[in-house]
Amino acid sequence: MDLGISGKTALVCASSKGLGLGCAEALAEAGVNLVMNARGSEALEASAQAIRDTFGVTVTAIAADITSEEGRAKVLDAAGSVDILVNNAGGPPPGLWSDWDRDDFIKALDANMLTPIALMKALLPGMMERGWGRVVNITSQSVKAPIPQLGLSNSARAGLTGYVAGTARQVAERGVNINNLLPGIHATDRASSLDKAVADREGITVDEAHANRSATIPARRYGTRQEFGATCAFMCSQHAGFMVGQNILLDGGSTNATL
Ligand code: NAP
Repeated sequence: MDLGISGKTALVCASSKGLGLGCAEALAEAGVNLVMNARGSEALEASAQAIRDTFGVTVTAIAADITSEEGRAKVLDAAGSVDILVNNAGGPPPGLWSDWDRDDFIKALDANMLTPIALMKALLPGMMERGWGRVVNITSQSVKAPIPQLGLSNSARAGLTGYVAGTARQVAERGVNINNLLPGIHATDRASSLDKAVADREGITVDEAHANRSATIPARRYGTRQEFGATCAFMCSQHAGFMVGQNILLDGGSTNATL
């Protein structure tokens, strides 16, 4: 399917690895020029070069912490005019409800709620002026089915989801579509480090931890970054112009709910 977005420019945050990289690759395959970002420059440069070599699009790579004001300013300066924004960053650490104080919440809100909001506020006016834009916020299945030990993530992502619900409906008439993409368990570095933590805690191998977790998913496997990226690219395509303020769940059937 021709996604109809060849020649557009996308800013894909936190995209040297994992789900962000999957989104960058799928957009590049559709002919979209990229601004990629991550904190570590080595993996970022390697991923950017691999995308240039494979898809022949222009890729600008900006090493910066997207959750900091300086980092965002650096990325926005380099990005200039952007048609597509994919918001992403690392997730907050797990814990118990009583573990966290105000500073922990502020850090989680900064990273997973206020950063994507700041980037939308910076880039939506240009999209609205040009009459076309797409925003996809990578959140989590925990928005629909909160995960008890991820209280910081549950809180920050619920806040972003609420903001998007209103904002998406305020900008849609200008040709700008904002939606959220909710990953369940995907095979990324983050998923591997969670498997390793479980293996260490339970005295089992990492493969056993992976198999046990896969067994909890109706699809009996983890998602791939390629599947995730393809869904994101569709949400950024010409065909998704009537999709407004939705929370699209990609979790292999883990969330057992009809609505
Ligand atoms: P990942 O494999 O660990 O990759 C994270 C990417 O983000 C890396 O490129 C990393 O590069 C970059 N990054 C992290 N913090 C950053 C920051 N402050 N500024 C700029 N770049 C940053 O993680 P993932 O599995 O793709 O997860 C992405 C998001 O989806 C996270 O918020 C996670 O909580 C959420 N999620 C993931 C899953 C899953 O199963 N994978 C499930 C539900 C939700 P640097 O470290 O070099 O910055």
